[in-house]
Amino acid sequence: MTNAGSAATITDAGRVVAAAGRWRLPLDWVDAVVFDLGTVLSNRDCAYPDAVKLVSSLQEAEVPAAVVTYRRDGGEQLAAAGLSGLFGVVVEGSDAEQQGLAGPSGPAVLLHAARLLHVHPARVAVVQDTVSGVQAGCRGGFGLVVAVDRAGGREAELRAYGAQWVLTTLDKVALDEEVTRARWWQTGPTAEAGAEYAGWILDYTGVDPQVERVRETLCTVGNGYLASRGAAPEASASGSHYPGTYAAGAFNRLISRVHDHPHEDESLVNLPNWLVLRWRADRGGWVVPDGPGISEFRQSLDLRAGVVHRRYRHVDGTGRATIVVSRMLVSMAAPHLAALETTFIAENWSGILQVRSGIDGRVANRQVAQYAPLAGRHLRFAGQGRDGPGGLWLRTRTSQSRVEVGVATRTQVFAAGAPAAVHRRATMAALRPEETYTISVREGQPVRVQKVAGYYTSRDRAITEPAAAARQAVAQAGPFEDLLTAQVRAWRRLWERSHVELHTEPPAPLLALNLHTFHLLVCTSPNVVDVDAGVGARGLHGEDYRGHIFWDELFVHRVLALHVPEASRALLLYRWRRLDAARNAAAAAGHRGAMFPWESGSDGREETPEEIYNPRADTWMPDHAARQRHVGLAIAYSVWQYYQATADMDFLRTYGAELIVEIARFFADLAQRNPATGRYEITGVMGPDEFHTAHAGAHAPGLANNAYTNVMTVWLLRRALEVVDLLSCHDGDSLAAMSGVDEQELARWRDITTGMYVPFQDDGIISQFDGYDKLPQFDLAGYAARYSDLSRLDLILAAEGDSPNNYQVGKQADVLMLLYLLSAEELRDLLAGLGYQWPAPALLRTVQFYINRVVHASSLSRVVYAWVQARTDRATSWQCFTEALSADIGDTQHGSTREGVHIGAMAGTLDLAERCYLGVETRQDALLLNPRLPQPISKLHTLLTYRGHQIHITATQRDMTLKASPCNAAPVTVHPAGQPPLQIKGGQECTVPLKPAP
Ligand code: BGC
Repeated sequence: MTNAGSAATITDAGRVVAAAGRWRLPLDWVDAVVFDLGTVLSNRDCAYPDAVKLVSSLQEAEVPAAVVTYRRDGGEQLAAAGLSGLFGVVVEGSDAEQQGLAGPSGPAVLLHAARLLHVHPARVAVVQDTVSGVQAGCRGGFGLVVAVDRAGGREAELRAYGAQWVLTTLDKVALDEEVTRARWWQTGPTAEAGAEYAGWILDYTGVDPQVERVRETLCTVGNGYLASRGAAPEASASGSHYPGTYAAGAFNRLISRVHDHPHEDESLVNLPNWLVLRWRADRGGWVVPDGPGISEFRQSLDLRAGVVHRRYRHVDGTGRATIVVSRMLVSMAAPHLAALETTFIAENWSGILQVRSGIDGRVANRQVAQYAPLAGRHLRFAGQGRDGPGGLWLRTRTSQSRVEVGVATRTQVFAAGAPAAVHRRATMAALRPEETYTISVREGQPVRVQKVAGYYTSRDRAITEPAAAARQAVAQAGPFEDLLTAQVRAWRRLWERSHVELHTEPPAPLLALNLHTFHLLVCTSPNVVDVDAGVGARGLHGEDYRGHIFWDELFVHRVLALHVPEASRALLLYRWRRLDAARNAAAAAGHRGAMFPWESGSDGREETPEEIYNPRADTWMPDHAARQRHVGLAIAYSVWQYYQATADMDFLRTYGAELIVEIARFFADLAQRNPATGRYEITGVMGPDEFHTAHAGAHAPGLANNAYTNVMTVWLLRRALEVVDLLSCHDGDSLAAMSGVDEQELARWRDITTGMYVPFQDDGIISQFDGYDKLPQFDLAGYAARYSDLSRLDLILAAEGDSPNNYQVGKQADVLMLLYLLSAEELRDLLAGLGYQWPAPALLRTVQFYINRVVHASSLSRVVYAWVQARTDRATSWQCFTEALSADIGDTQHGSTREGVHIGAMAGTLDLAERCYLGVETRQDALLLNPRLPQPISKLHTLLTYRGHQIHITATQRDMTLKASPCNAAPVTVHPAGQPPLQIKGGQECTVPLKPAP
């Protein structure tokens, strides 16, 4: 709530607002306004001009408004006053009767109006002029409760019942002009089950312990530095709940003994839980989230604002009913801060409310069932204390990595818009500082508890010590309302850069697409710029894969480089800083260059476990996943994507070239000339398909000539040669000095780019590796009938004394990855350079061949299959796309969403919508565009950040419009398919026709 003017007075939460000023309606989080009829018509049924003026200006700004009343003839009275056309929605007494909606102080009528407006209550402002109306607004969890007190004198009473603004006239309300409301930002109905809010609100109703952990993952809020799962503040870790807070890059190692095997693991550490806020009425039992007495439960993640809303009603054994409404955020604007506001309304009782607020440092990494036998307690106590009234802090240190973590909280209690009288009692058990507040509450009068948390670790810069920094941050933080305002603005700026807008018929799961953008930004917002961290395969959302960083980041960079390039750069630096570790790993394996680990954590050593326990066979099996050397190819590919998207020569010269050259050197060293054929070959590796770890019957792990690895090595060596050329015109000496590249090495690279071997089957189908075509097909249908879940087919077959190595069956896309990363034209060109002609029918046969040989046990796979079919079988592609969209929101990846999101696949779906359907490529210093929208998409809009320009691209089935925002950056080359290349400058716009789809 922002307000401007002079004559300051203190109101809600100690905020300074201006009594004489104008109250600005924050349109970046208020989507609609619901008026009580009494605020619009006087007793004599005359219209109040101030109300009419406000509703008209809302209309002009396209902010929907509704009016509600219990009078049966409310609609007629509006008409008589000449106001019938003013409101989009009118709910009158007869509707209330029909719908069986409860009386005036209950929120039912207001909630009904919000439903008709298709706006979530948390994004609705209600305007009331009675105590019962104000109460209804608070009980319904409405975002803003405004009271009009035209006669004056009732301010104290209205505030006591929860009015946040009390005004004598609505003339004082202005619309926040800073907010421009793009169409895509608006809400409206969509066809998604349970989603009424045009893809912007993830909404859950009812308590369901079975899926609570999935909800927590999907309601995670974060800012690239810090993330907290959307767990109930009343919850601690249990079968159905798992609060978790993680800081990017904060790892720790532990040693365990399991089944008599020693294990050393490095994990992203679950940090002390700041959310803890428990309560009880009149010294009854402490309320538990899925305990008895809870009804009307609703939890919603507002994607536009990055806020989790919860609301429920609790009735205890003696009939005392309490409504609890909360909102929670991890600040995108101030990355070390998080905040929770909880409002308690004693519905039918007066008495004592007790609230316990604390920091729980007794947490451990205990989320993943499979890791249960492993040690999980990473934090050691290092100090704690209180800071004046309401302040607590805790210092912990990780046991091995000695990362010091400082967490501080500030809890304040407000009633009637002012600090409330509370009795405080602290209990300071080690690792569990807490304060209990005893508050005297009166029936119907809300009490607000605001908790602000600060997190710093010893990995942060510009601090003296983490706990001191956290305490200071919390002491200086503004009230919840200010954090919320800053949060909404920061998210809006990010959405403007990142939103992919689809218009589809029939409607597509837009909520899932927006949710994917949201969670991608939770891990990769511009706040990562100052953090040394990579992007983990499960985001900052859970503990699966122990927070490790895999090749999945490849999918992330393709999107990020064109939307948040500064984040892309920062995440690539994570890899650059670990080049020495990768060089040492290569040397230890007898190779030159840099060999990056398949799973990476703090210092860049290989973190992939060497053994895996197979519960089906009750045995340990070797885990060969670390043979996926292709992770290095993914890193080099991402560096090049970033460079092509940004032309950031400084980055290339200082970091990127070194990464590309060292990785190229490693792969060139892996490639050995086969004297019999004269071709280069790579052996002993695994491709992306993790079901194939060795040749059938072979004892030694690794495959010969995985086509994906061989072809991408050629792609990489071509890029490395290009980089050397590029830098020799620029800064040749430094590259040669830095990397020691000499003519002999360049000659070898050139040789490989023309002499690499690629396995083909007779009909031109690219073979996944040598001998793949000789393997029998697998009885997928038979196994699918016997096992509901084939994601661990490797373990199933091992228990039967068999192995997927013996069959043509894939866990995920492998050969087809080539067509995801390279356009058909580029791939054909690479193969031609090797002397292989690969005509279009062979491409189609290759796609067709692999389609029926995969179980999609990795979420990344469907993205790739949707991609490769986009130009040949648009209907199937669309189906794969929508299936990929449901991986997390529908928890279709074998229940794994409870342990974190699939960040690569999330980014992959955005990539599909954008690069694939728009045919975007960034190569040869040009932005290539070749749109081919699937039939259901009538229009697609995105904003690409390309070489200093912001280019709006809008494509329909007929044409494509490009619009560069005004700027001084050098003109860039844009090349629409079938047209001559264009030079585009800031401020220019052009439309090109598109060929109709076949
Ligand atoms: C997939 C890998 C992926 C990893 C992390 C595995 O199941 O096979 O390709 O990198 O999950 O997401």
